[in-house]
Amino acid sequence: MSWSILAALTLALCVAVLTLWKRRVDRAELDRELGEREKAKAQNTHRARLQYPQVDLSQCIGCGSCVSACPEDGVLGLVHGQAVVLHGARCVGHGRCADACPVGAIAITLGDLRERRDIPVLTEKLEATRVPNLFLAGEVTGYALIRTAVSHGTSVADEIGRRVARARRTEPAPSDVLDLVVVGAGPAGLACSLQAKVRGLRFVTLEQSDLGGTVSKYPRRKLVMTQPVELPLAGTLGRSTYQKEELVELWTRVAREQQLPIQTGEAFQGLALFEDGTFQVRSTSGAWHARHVCLALGRRGTPNKLGVPGEELAKVAYNLLDAHSYTDRRILVVGGGDSAIEAALGLAEQPGNVVTLSYRQGVFTRLKTRNEARLLEAVQRKRIELALKSRVERIEPATATLVFDDGARRVLDNDEMFVFAGGQAPQALLEQVGVSFDPAERAPGLPIQEQGTGLFRALLIALFLTLMTVSWTFVFRGYYGLDAHERPFAREHAWLKPTSFIGLMLGVAATVCVLGNLSYLARRWPRFDRIPGSLQQWMTAHVATGIGALLFALVHAAMAPRHTVGGHALWAMAFLVVTGAIGRYFYAFVPRAANGRELALDEVKTELTQLSGEWDRQRPEFAQRVREEIQRLIAEGRWQGSFAARWIALLRSQRRLSASLVRLRVAGAREGLASEQLDALVAIARRAQRTALMAAHYEDLRGLMSSWRWFHRWVALAMVLLVALHVLTALRYASFGGS
Ligand SMILES: Cc1cc2nc3c(=O)[nH]c(=O)nc-3n(C[C@H](O)[C@H](O)[C@H](O)COP(=O)(O)OP(=O)(O)OC[C@H]3O[C@@H](n4cnc5c(N)ncnc54)[C@H](O)[C@@H]3O)c2cc1C
Repeated sequence: MSWSILAALTLALCVAVLTLWKRRVDRAELDRELGEREKAKAQNTHRARLQYPQVDLSQCIGCGSCVSACPEDGVLGLVHGQAVVLHGARCVGHGRCADACPVGAIAITLGDLRERRDIPVLTEKLEATRVPNLFLAGEVTGYALIRTAVSHGTSVADEIGRRVARARRTEPAPSDVLDLVVVGAGPAGLACSLQAKVRGLRFVTLEQSDLGGTVSKYPRRKLVMTQPVELPLAGTLGRSTYQKEELVELWTRVAREQQLPIQTGEAFQGLALFEDGTFQVRSTSGAWHARHVCLALGRRGTPNKLGVPGEELAKVAYNLLDAHSYTDRRILVVGGGDSAIEAALGLAEQPGNVVTLSYRQGVFTRLKTRNEARLLEAVQRKRIELALKSRVERIEPATATLVFDDGARRVLDNDEMFVFAGGQAPQALLEQVGVSFDPAERAPGLPIQEQGTGLFRALLIALFLTLMTVSWTFVFRGYYGLDAHERPFAREHAWLKPTSFIGLMLGVAATVCVLGNLSYLARRWPRFDRIPGSLQQWMTAHVATGIGALLFALVHAAMAPRHTVGGHALWAMAFLVVTGAIGRYFYAFVPRAANGRELALDEVKTELTQLSGEWDRQRPEFAQRVREEIQRLIAEGRWQGSFAARWIALLRSQRRLSASLVRLRVAGAREGLASEQLDALVAIARRAQRTALMAAHYEDLRGLMSSWRWFHRWVALAMVLLVALHVLTALRYASFGGS
C-alpha cells in the first residue's frame, strides 16, 4: 500500500512539474508571437496583399500543423493556442496551411473585400464589369500562384473562343480585326495564348519584357512550389516543385514549338473603345484592332526608376537573376526591402565582390526576420557596407555618387548597380481603361464559417457504429444482463465470450482501429506528407477509428471489462475518447475568447493612437507619456512569470489603475485638456487595462484546459502499451474457445 502511495506521489509530482514547465514554455512562446504581431503591425506587413489564410477560430484546435506547413516566414503563428495571421503580406497563397489543417478551419481567400480598393471588380468569367469583352487573368485579379494564373488564362481563352464561334455563325470577322489581344506572357498570358491557339483564334500577345513573367525574375535556381495543373498544348505540370529555370525553359520551348505570336519588348499603353464594341489596343510600337482583350499583366507593374543622371547606363539593372555571374565587382544595391537585401546578400557571397547597400531610411522596418538576421551578420562580418539615410545623386560609368541626409556626399567606385525601388502597380493603367475597383460594385463573398466541413462525416460513422452496438446489446440483453459467474451457464456464452471466434474478431477489429487511429499521428508529421489523403480526411478517420475501437473493444469484453490488462486498456480508450472530444469541441471556446480580447485590445490601441495623435503636434511629450502610461497598464499583470504572481498582480491591478488614472488626469489638466477629452482618455485607459487582463486570464484558463492534450497523449501511450500487453498475454496464455 505504502509503495502505491509513493508511486502515486512521484507520478503526481512529475505531472505537476512537467505541466508547469510546459506552461512556462507556452507563455514565452505566446509572448514572442504577440510581439511578432505588434511588429507586423508596426511594419505594416500584417495586411495581406493577395489571398491569405483566414482561420475560423471556432474550428481551430491549435495543433500548429498550418504553422509548420507554411513555406514562407512568419505568415502564421499560434496566439493563445490558435492559428493567427501575423505577417499577412508575406503570404503568396500556396494554401499549404489549408491542406494541412486537420479540421478544415482555414480557407484561402482575399478576406473582406468590402475593404479592398486594390482588387478589380470582375464577373465570374473574369470580365471587367464596366467594359464588356475586356478580361483579366492571373495575379492582376488579386489571386496569386502559377496554377491559378494558368487556369485563369485557359478559362478566359475558352470563354472568348465560345463568343467568337457564336459571332462567326452570324457574321464573318473582318480580316483586319483580331479576335484577341493578350497582354503579358507570364503563366496567365501564356496559358491564354496556348488555349487561344487550341480554339483557333486570331490573336497576338504583347509582352514588355521576356516570356515567363514574374517566374523569370525569381533568383537563380529558386524552387517553385506548385500543384498539378494542365497547360494547354503542353500537358500536365504534375510535380509539386520545379526549378525556376526548368519552368521558364519548358514554357519557352512550348511557345516556340507552337509558334505563338508573342511580341516581346512591346508594352501595352492603353485602350480605346470603338462604337461597334471592338478595341483599339495601344502599345509602344503601334496599335492593334481586336474584339477581345485579356490583360494578364501581373501585379508587379513597371519598376520604379531613380530619375538621376546616368541611370540609362547598361550597368544599372532593376532585378538580379543570378548573383553567381558577378565576381570581383564593385556593386551598389539600392533599396530596403526583402528583394534588395536578398540581392545584396547573394552578391556579397560571391568571391571578390565589394557590396554597398544604400537605403534612404535609417532603419529597415519591413524585412523578413531571416533576412534581417542575415543582413546583420553580413554587416558585422564586413561583407556588406551599409549607407543608411542616403540617395543616389548621379551615376557615372565607373562611379556612383551618394548624398546623405546630413548633406555629406560620397563617390563610390562602381561597376554594377541594382535598384529595388518598388514598382508602379498596374492599377492606374487598369482604371484608365475602365476597370472598376469600387468595393460597392462587388458581389458579397461567402462567410468563412460556411467553408469548414468540421467532423460531420466522422460523427456520422461513429453514430452508425454506436447504433449497431446498441442494437447488438439490445438483442443479447439477456446475456449481457447476467452476472459474470452466471454467464458460463448461458447458451450464448460459447459465442459471445471474449475468447470465442466472434469475440476474438471483435478484438482484432478494435486493434486494427487502434493502429489506424495512430497512423494519423504519422500523417501529421511533415516528413510523411506524401501519404495519400488530406489531413482533414485523416482527422475524420482518427475520430471514427477512435470511437470504433472503443465500441469493438466493449463488445469484445462482453460489455463487462474486468480488472485485467485488457480491461484497463478499455478504460484508457474510453478516457481517450473523452479527452479527444474535449480537445475538439470544448477546448476551442476559451482560446477563441482570448483571441477575441486581443482583437478588442487592438481596437482600444487604435482609439488611443487616434486620440493621442491629435496632441502629437502641440503636446508631443504629453502624447508620448499617455501612450507609455497606458502601455504600462496593459503590460502590468499580463506578463508575470508564474501563475501566483499573476493573481497577485490582478489583486493589485485596481490600485495601479487608480494611481495611473490620477496621474493622467493631473497631467492632462496641466496641459489644459477639456474635461470631455480627459474623460475619453480615462475611459480608454480603463478599457485597455481590463481587456488586457481578460485576455491574460483567458490564457490562464486555456493553459489549464490545454493539459487535456497532455493527458490525451500520455493516456494514448499507456493505452497502446496495455493493448500490446493484452494481445501478447492472450496469445501466450489464453485457451481460445475455453471459458
Ligand atoms: C518571390 C515570389 C515567389 C513566388 N513563389 C511562388 C511559388 O513558389 N509558387 C507559385 O505558384 N507562385 C509563386 N509566386 C507567385 C507567382 O509568381 C505569380 O502568382 C504568377 O507568376 C502570376 O502570373 P501572371 O501571369 O498573372 O503574372 P506575371 O507572372 O507577373 O506576368 C505578368 C507579365 O505581364 C507583363 N506586363 C506587365 N505590364 C505590361 C505591359 N504594360 N505591357 C506588356 N506586358 C506587361 C510582365 O512583364 C510579365 O511578364 C511567387 C511570387 C513571388 C514574387
